[in-house]
Amino acid sequence: MLNATLIKRIEITKELLILHIKPDEPLKPFLPGQYVALGLPGSAPRPDNFPEEKNPPKPDRLIKRAYSIGSSPENLDWLEFYIAVLPEGLLTSRLALLQEGDRLWMAKKITGTFVLTPVPDNHNLILVSTGTGIAPYISMLRTQSTWTAGRKITLLHGVRYSSDLAYRDELLKLARQRESFSYYPVISRKDPNWHGERGYVQKFFEEALIKPDPSCDHIFLCGNPAMIADMQKLLTPLGYKEHTRKEPGNLHVEKYW
Ligand SMILES: Cc1cc2nc3c(=O)[nH]c(=O)nc-3n(C[C@H](O)[C@H](O)[C@H](O)COP(=O)(O)OP(=O)(O)OC[C@H]3O[C@@H](n4cnc5c(N)ncnc54)[C@H](O)[C@@H]3O)c2cc1C
Repeated sequence: MLNATLIKRIEITKELLILHIKPDEPLKPFLPGQYVALGLPGSAPRPDNFPEEKNPPKPDRLIKRAYSIGSSPENLDWLEFYIAVLPEGLLTSRLALLQEGDRLWMAKKITGTFVLTPVPDNHNLILVSTGTGIAPYISMLRTQSTWTAGRKITLLHGVRYSSDLAYRDELLKLARQRESFSYYPVISRKDPNWHGERGYVQKFFEEALIKPDPSCDHIFLCGNPAMIADMQKLLTPLGYKEHTRKEPGNLHVEKYW
């Protein structure tokens, strides 16, 4: 049943993990922004200090959840994931104890429509995320084909504390290297270590710090469904329409729950 190995575990904080996972079988090509299911059996251990489960799963039940891929498809050796550990979460409370060399399950099929294929090469990207919702954008930004000539890319990342800003160094470096790239981290809680933007990612649009043009800026929203609902309310009157397989649009949405 278990068909993949954790080859690298990076702890951003106790609750935020970057995992590199290598499946036993060769990876098939995928698109930046797509996701795959990971899983562990109910018998997998959980940390002693996490709340006891009211309805523990059967030991042989495979608990599966979807995770956006953070690595680029230019590397097909392993996949990177950025995962929030929820002490009451069925799967993530078990993923929390995985160590390098441990085994887990990965679905064979990588899928998802939260991708750049529908965006014309000469259109700009505004990538809006909360928490681990930054993962699909990391995959996009690490992939050469995203950087079409003349395209501007803006990334907003909303988190609670500055310590939650995974990928910050990589993104600051990218912003120094590429004039066409802007990175705006924003912190929602009191944090004496933080001297940058405060509040929620929505404020950039509410206060017109970013003025998107629906004729040439595609907007992507990923993460917390409350942020996505707020943003949809703000963007619809400006001429934004959700992209679906049947009806193309300029607003792309990936809700994590
Ligand atoms: C397409 C897709 C891609 C996803 N990619 C990622 C990813 O890259 N990283 C990631 O951490 N999660 C991601 N998720 C969420 C993930 O699938 C699980 O829902 C999450 O890890 C919780 O699983 P669990 O079994 O531990 O919690 P469960 O026992 O299933 O509890 C679920 C509850 O946890 C909360 N929750 C779920 N996800 C999060 C989160 N990310 N942060 C805070 N609270 C949350 C919600 O209240 C939700 O109702 C994605 C979801 C979808 C649909």
